[in-house]
Amino acid sequence: MITDPIQIATDVLVIGSGAAGMYAAIEASRNGAQVLLADRSLIGRGGATVMAQMTVAVALGEEAPDDPQFHYANTIAAGRGLCDEKLAHLLCNDGPECIREMDHWGVGWARKDGHITATTAPGHDRPRCVYVDFLNTGPAVSKTLRMASARNPNIRKAGDLCIVDLVVSDGECIGAVAYHLGTGAPVLIAAKATVLATGGLTRLYARNSASTNMGGDGYALALRAGAALIDMEFVQFFPIGHLAPRLVGMDPIMWDPFRYKLGGQLLNGRMEEFTARYGSDEDGKYVLTRDLATYAITQEVEAGRGSPHGGAYLSFQHCTEAQLRDAFGPVIDRLAANGIDLTKMPVEVAPIAHYHMGGVKADATMATGVPGLYAAGEVVGGANGANRLSGNAVTEALVFGRRAGRSAAERCRRVAAPVPRMQDAKTALDLIEDDGARGSAGNTAAAIADLQTVMTKEVGPFRTAATLNRALSRLAAITTEHGSNPAGERGSFDMRRLDWFDLRNMLTVAHTVTQCALNRTESRGAHQREDFPQMSPQWQLRQRVTMHYGKLAISTEPAAAQAIAS
Ligand SMILES: Cc1cc2nc3c(=O)[nH]c(=O)nc-3n(C[C@H](O)[C@H](O)[C@H](O)COP(=O)(O)OP(=O)(O)OC[C@H]3O[C@@H](n4cnc5c(N)ncnc54)[C@H](O)[C@@H]3O)c2cc1C
Repeated sequence: MITDPIQIATDVLVIGSGAAGMYAAIEASRNGAQVLLADRSLIGRGGATVMAQMTVAVALGEEAPDDPQFHYANTIAAGRGLCDEKLAHLLCNDGPECIREMDHWGVGWARKDGHITATTAPGHDRPRCVYVDFLNTGPAVSKTLRMASARNPNIRKAGDLCIVDLVVSDGECIGAVAYHLGTGAPVLIAAKATVLATGGLTRLYARNSASTNMGGDGYALALRAGAALIDMEFVQFFPIGHLAPRLVGMDPIMWDPFRYKLGGQLLNGRMEEFTARYGSDEDGKYVLTRDLATYAITQEVEAGRGSPHGGAYLSFQHCTEAQLRDAFGPVIDRLAANGIDLTKMPVEVAPIAHYHMGGVKADATMATGVPGLYAAGEVVGGANGANRLSGNAVTEALVFGRRAGRSAAERCRRVAAPVPRMQDAKTALDLIEDDGARGSAGNTAAAIADLQTVMTKEVGPFRTAATLNRALSRLAAITTEHGSNPAGERGSFDMRRLDWFDLRNMLTVAHTVTQCALNRTESRGAHQREDFPQMSPQWQLRQRVTMHYGKLAISTEPAAAQAIAS
């Protein structure tokens, strides 16, 4: 029996409360809109933002002379010819304003001699990355935005609200259907404008740096609503994710800030420096960009020169205890509690799925192709092309969030409040209400683990036609097993049901990544095909994915010629 859903009306619905969603909510409200900020987790604590460690790239020019055009040139070069230039411009040009506004709100950017200090990071041609000590940038960014939105009576917040589908009526997005995790109740939200700020997809991979909320819901929601995705084959692997020894309660990508500050040494299992074999001219200081470092470590492991757990060593043994404490203060104590003394031992590191360059296609106002639907943050594709520079992700979340919030509020001044018809929301409401009797009896958590293993083994940083074809057939088998009727029950925190909804999205998104990776018969940035090792001028193209009657369609569109990093 279908019960009436809880109904909510708002001007702007923001889905996801990371940096992008919270900035969007603040900006929409100060442009006159009433906002509902919804998240499947706790507000401001569920995604990547709160986990981000250190760097935020922005051309403030306080530490060293800088200008957004230099930041832009570095971003374009790293993107290997595929950056969406308008989005890259927006990221670099609006970054300083957002960073200064965050400063005004009290984020606490680290300062030196009275100015906001900045550090260097691979691919940036000067010190450009601001931070909040010690390894505290993401939590500080998140807290600052939470405080700024908490003070705002025009922003209502709803945690534990998992958006299951967007509602599209006559081609326009007019809100969403959600399911409340605490009660299992269906919720129908009517909105004049909706901002998708759901973050990335790295939960598709077994070894990932993200939270469990990052299975790529936003990409699947956008596809089913009629929006296009681009560049889905470009998943960024972070080269030095922590591997061993066991590290509890600390972030797996925490070694990046260490190497920026202290110049770590990357060594293979024989304790040899090896990056020169892969075209790097670094001497004792690891400055390689992420895609090249991922390649170098993986190749060493495949050649039998890996560290004992299948990665590389990262050593800070050239540092004294005093230098380590000076740079990372309380973090050194947390490492000691894990039995790690960096003056005496290296740690083992290996590539880990970290960020997604692809995503929802949006213009420079953050509008998608579906009227009423905007996108912001990591869920947006294109700004970083085939490879993202360190620090650009938090900046893009802030900048795109602010822009999307403004655009959504502008739309609210033009359109009347929508009245969703039940038929527009019926498919999603039926799924939420389903009694589970026809759902698969299989173990949904095991099916998610299966998908993650397939993606890691076959669609990792290095792919071939054989691995990708194997992945497609395995994904098809998991899809059949998953079925179209929900498992579990409609009830309070029923994890089988939540897994079923998650897997529904993860399968769609995994399929787009894999199919796009199979189509792209070249190697570029984060997409490395062992059977097509060269970058090909014929592939100066973007792949655009849409969905028609549940089937994916992929087409190509030319990307403008751009400077490409060597
Ligand atoms: C460990 C780690 C460290 C990082 N370090 C850095 C760094 O130092 N510098 C840098 O620039 N970048 C870094 N990044 C990347 C950067 O943090 C992210 O790209 C950025 O924060 C994304 O912000 P966002 O607002 O787009 O998404 P997120 O912050 O991921 O927020 C997305 C939100 O959407 C919610 N959501 C998802 N699906 C649904 C749904 N169906 N219904 C309702 N809500 C939903 C999630 O719960 C989450 O709260 C790091 C990432 C990780 C994982």
